[in-house]
Amino acid sequence: MGSTLFKSFLIGSLAFALALTLIFTVVPLLGEPFQASMFISAVIGSYGIGMPVGYYTFRQSDRLQQVLAELERSHAELAEKASRDHMTGLLNRENFFSMFEHRRRVCDQGALLIIDIDHFKRINDNWGHPVGDEALVTVSKAIVQTIREGDVAGRIGGEEFAIFLPGASATRAELLAERIRSTVAGIEFCPTEFVRMPLSVSVGGAMCRPDADLSDVIRAADRRLYEAKRAGRNRSVFSAVMPRAA
Ligand code: GH3
Ligand code: MG
Ligand code: MG
Repeated sequence: MGSTLFKSFLIGSLAFALALTLIFTVVPLLGEPFQASMFISAVIGSYGIGMPVGYYTFRQSDRLQQVLAELERSHAELAEKASRDHMTGLLNRENFFSMFEHRRRVCDQGALLIIDIDHFKRINDNWGHPVGDEALVTVSKAIVQTIREGDVAGRIGGEEFAIFLPGASATRAELLAERIRSTVAGIEFCPTEFVRMPLSVSVGGAMCRPDADLSDVIRAADRRLYEAKRAGRNRSVFSAVMPRAA
């Protein structure tokens, strides 16, 4: 408000200075005598008309800039929402894989973990879909609590999650897979007040280097997940062998 008023005052003063210049150069050239009414017209034109018009224009321009900034903010929020799974807040499948593709190129190595909730269908069948949804959110929170800043986590299927650990060693990835498994196994998940339902996940993991074929890495992690399921679930299996280059 203050600066807008000041800017319009400057515009008014500029117009006044121009009008005075004209009065003192053009009027004598025309051989006309100087009249007080010219000076009064210059004051009215510059400060009475020029200044309010300037003020109005600056206000409109400020408003336009505010609206543009709001639009940009909304656009960024929408883009952020569209990239996430609405239930868990993790990246959705498409964005997880595009982040995975992007991030693995900028680090020497990394690891991919695929996490699948065990016997999830039973939760839905016994307690209904809303309780199943609650279990999904509970597991996703356990995952978020376990990972570090910079790790990329997504929900890549119904009850399937994935984490890319940029720069992770096989030892760290293996430890993290096991930590996620044990954290979920330790959750007190109660569909009703007096019933505790055991929750568990199986985790499969593989190492990834920048030039690896993504589908090979995913396949390797998936195979480990399958082994974990076959071995009885509630376990993590990690392959420290780097899948070959693409
Ligand atoms: P496994 O241990 O072999 O992984 O068995 P599972 O029961 O977890 O796997 P299965 O593939 O048989 O069942 C997955 C179920 O997940 C089936 C589907 O209805 C359920 N599901 C998928 N998405 C959602 C969801 O968003 N909410 C709920 N409540 N259930 C979901
Ligand atoms: Mg499952
Ligand atoms: Mg599954």
